[in-house]
Amino acid sequence: MAARTPSPPPAGRAGALEVEVAVVGSGAAGLYAALCAARAGARVALVSRSPLAASASYWAQGGVAAALAPEDSPALHAEDTLVAGRGASRPSAVEVLTTESADRVRDLEALGVRFDAEAAGGLALGLEGGHSRRRVAHAGGSATGRRITRCLSAHAATDERIEVLEETTVTALVVEDGRCAGLYAESTCSGAPAGEIEVRARGTVLATGGAAALWERTTNPSGAIGAGLSLALAAGAALADLELVQFHPTALVSDDGHDGFLLTEALRGEGAVLLNEAGERFVDELAPRDEVALAIEDELRARPAARVVLDMRTLDTTRFPNVVSALEQAGLDPAAAPVPVAPAAHYTMGGVATDLDGRSTLPGLLAVGECACTGLHGANRLASNSLAECFVFGRRAAEAALDEPPPRARSRPGFSQAGPTVVEPPTPATRRALWRFAGLERSEEGLLALAEDEHALARSVAAAALARGESRGAHRRRDRPDVDRALDGRHLVVRGDLAPTAERWE
Ligand SMILES: Cc1cc2nc3c(=O)[nH]c(=O)nc-3n(C[C@H](O)[C@H](O)[C@H](O)COP(=O)(O)OP(=O)(O)OC[C@H]3O[C@@H](n4cnc5c(N)ncnc54)[C@H](O)[C@@H]3O)c2cc1C
Repeated sequence: MAARTPSPPPAGRAGALEVEVAVVGSGAAGLYAALCAARAGARVALVSRSPLAASASYWAQGGVAAALAPEDSPALHAEDTLVAGRGASRPSAVEVLTTESADRVRDLEALGVRFDAEAAGGLALGLEGGHSRRRVAHAGGSATGRRITRCLSAHAATDERIEVLEETTVTALVVEDGRCAGLYAESTCSGAPAGEIEVRARGTVLATGGAAALWERTTNPSGAIGAGLSLALAAGAALADLELVQFHPTALVSDDGHDGFLLTEALRGEGAVLLNEAGERFVDELAPRDEVALAIEDELRARPAARVVLDMRTLDTTRFPNVVSALEQAGLDPAAAPVPVAPAAHYTMGGVATDLDGRSTLPGLLAVGECACTGLHGANRLASNSLAECFVFGRRAAEAALDEPPPRARSRPGFSQAGPTVVEPPTPATRRALWRFAGLERSEEGLLALAEDEHALARSVAAAALARGESRGAHRRRDRPDVDRALDGRHLVVRGDLAPTAERWE
């Protein structure tokens, strides 16, 4: 995507840019939101810390969930999403996603994404855990994320209305008169002098991805540390559902740099089975992720040095070329022997609290994709609903951003007022503490220890997990094993250092 990257401002000097929409992040959500805003005629700045291959979107192996099959419907897709969410999903967000995702898949096709097709010409839709119908559109087998982000970034790079600032890290948001008026960023272009830039916009859209890499064992790229959440929290916007974190059941166990590599659900959809130490199946491989992950964790805890393996020997693995190639790099041949797996932090259901058009509680600030919390996923995300979310809510947020009033002119032209960054990378101690105390099973004692952590987001996760005194979906409290019906449909909202409040969203 480097084609139209403008030169960074010279060392120590401040630059400025005025646009209608500023988008932070070039994963699926940010790229699509930027393109939708540009298609609506807006001038857009697309600011991204990393090159493409470092986004979680690029890594996505499953696909995009949409009710596209004749025997499927948005109502059935909604039913499955609500079941997975365990009574904690926001029904209006579920309705928006399941009604609009098919149109977004068609739009991606129109933009040039080639989804896998059947011989007869229709889309080849996959079955994944928790879905009652075949409804997952793949591109290039397990290379869906790569294909989509490549296609969208090619459009963004050549669109005259989009100013791409790659290798540029957003360090803080501009807040004036109780509104977000843009962002401060620092160029990190390799080999180029670092410079600061202030981007002013009507609407600033955070699309910075999730926070699962705050946990020690993760499937996510190392940059998924909740930067958007830190930016929003520091600017005064509310966060929600931080305690709801999905652990993927089947991440590779490897001691040679490939630990945490995700073995997609689609493998189990196509017949791969999980075997315990005794070589026996112990769980329905297509049950929702939280159930499969806990079943594996139980097997691993049962005996020291116990192993759980994923057996893919009966599968046609040529349909999963990037899985096979990653396993080969780790010295494993899935056609010859089962591979060791264990759960890892995978997806953060919580994020910046938003309405159905991506608006946060701070006027002028919007959030989409994994960094946002519309309430869609409830206590357990249904597989492949997250890419769908990036496109459905990405378009809505792009349109809503254009309805915001323009910010006032800069008071001191040519001079940026940015302070130090508000995004703290986690220390190894914080990552260990999150894994230990806010992992698959939590307790009051452990969460109270985490509440003293040096990292602000880790403390907020602890506060929310303590306030959710129940077990529901991905949130398991050893000391509170039951569902608290009073929390049905409630979202735990965090504002600054205040105690979380349980809110019902329309
Ligand atoms: C291995 C793996 C496989 C997955 N498979 C699937 C799947 O098949 N189907 C599905 O629906 N979901 C899947 N998911 C989840 C899904 O990929 C993510 O939820 C989704 O891609 C998130 O997209 P995003 O655009 O919100 O964020 P990301 O794709 O993570 O992009 C975030 C962007 O923000 C940028 N950024 C971060 N901080 C800053 C900052 N301070 N300044 C500037 N830029 C910043 C990053 O550089 C990056 O460009 C998978 C996730 C993983 C990790």
